[in-house]
Amino acid sequence: MLVGAEHELPYHRPQLFPQVLGKGKINADKLHVHDAEWFKKKHIDLRLGTIVTQFNLERKVAVLANGQAVEFKKACLATGCRARRPQTAGSNVGNVFYLRSLRDVLGLQEILETEKEIVIIGGGRVACEVAAVLSQRPKINVTLMHRGKGLLARYLDEESSVWLAEYYAKNDVKTLLNETLNGFEGRTVIRNVQTKSGQRVAAQAAIVAIGADMNNGLFLNTPLNYPAGTPVNDYLETEEKGVYAVGDIALFPDRIFGGQRRVEQWHCAIAQGHVAGANMTGRKRIKWEYTPHFATSVFDLDFDFVGDFSKPATRVEVTGDRDKKKFIVRHFHLAALTGVSLCNQSADKVEAAKTEIREWPREIKRYD
Ligand SMILES: Cc1cc2nc3c(=O)[nH]c(=O)nc-3n(C[C@H](O)[C@H](O)[C@H](O)COP(=O)(O)OP(=O)(O)OC[C@H]3O[C@@H](n4cnc5c(N)ncnc54)[C@H](O)[C@@H]3O)c2cc1C
Repeated sequence: MLVGAEHELPYHRPQLFPQVLGKGKINADKLHVHDAEWFKKKHIDLRLGTIVTQFNLERKVAVLANGQAVEFKKACLATGCRARRPQTAGSNVGNVFYLRSLRDVLGLQEILETEKEIVIIGGGRVACEVAAVLSQRPKINVTLMHRGKGLLARYLDEESSVWLAEYYAKNDVKTLLNETLNGFEGRTVIRNVQTKSGQRVAAQAAIVAIGADMNNGLFLNTPLNYPAGTPVNDYLETEEKGVYAVGDIALFPDRIFGGQRRVEQWHCAIAQGHVAGANMTGRKRIKWEYTPHFATSVFDLDFDFVGDFSKPATRVEVTGDRDKKKFIVRHFHLAALTGVSLCNQSADKVEAAKTEIREWPREIKRYD
């Protein structure tokens, strides 16, 4: 049984912006991971538009919103995240958008027919992607407001991140950098975005992309809930036997960098689904092993980020040529290579970066 709160068939979340907002046309079918027939053939009892309201670990029962109690022998938690809301005035006013689901994106798509002045708040992956997509639509004016001086700053060196912000400005995105959000003005719908420095930016809609919070309400007061995520072992099983966790909420042992890691990445979530599914049903247990990697595309720039970007680099090495839009940034923490950011590089180079990250002799370098 697959239970999900959304009404749509499971879909490719990273494709929401290009497929729904991109051309101004909606092609929801293209988003589906599988069609309805596939689920039938696999004998999957699909319960869409259904919220799980209680999850009783002791009795091994999940209660659905319609009151039905479902007993289980094994369960997998994949509740994901929701877009973070800022603690500022006006954050619930009309036309302030938080984009996570197809429904959220369709809501934005609808108002774009009439509203043309859009302010986006954030400087990470989601903010950059939506700004690039919207700026390529006719008659829409996009302002990207970010508290830093560059974009994707976590994954790039300072110069490349400033270069990227300039690239947005060249591509018709008005950038408002070194500015922090103070709040939204407007009685029923937004009129202005206020910055902490006292600027007021006229807006008919705002998109807030400042990170995500885990959907952990279902198991808040259980051993499955830790501030850093839901801890799992090498087989993606939680400390409750028979209960697994995958995707954005799973906090798994990191065999490359040590400690535990939680990632909000599409391919990781998919691959974990395969491993947890096999471990829940198969005879042979599969170990979860993962080299962190995600890709994002903005304008004509295809980025790949491989490794751990959670700590700021103490040194970076940049090779290639930014003006030719082809470069690689290698991040080091002390002597250890921790991350490789690639701009417009071949699949071979991305694979080579993964191998380099995996095989870097961390134990030895730690004592350098
Ligand atoms: C706009 C956008 C663009 C992205 N682009 C990229 C990208 O380019 N590359 C990349 O690697 N990653 C990207 N991501 C991140 C990626 O989509 C996530 O990492 C991935 O979807 C996580 O999968 P998940 O199954 O853990 O959670 P989700 O995909 O969030 O799915 C969780 C589901 O559980 C449902 N749910 C939660 N609680 C309950 C409950 N109590 N009862 C029933 N259902 C419930 C939710 O409604 C949701 O449908 C993007 C994310 C967004 C929002």
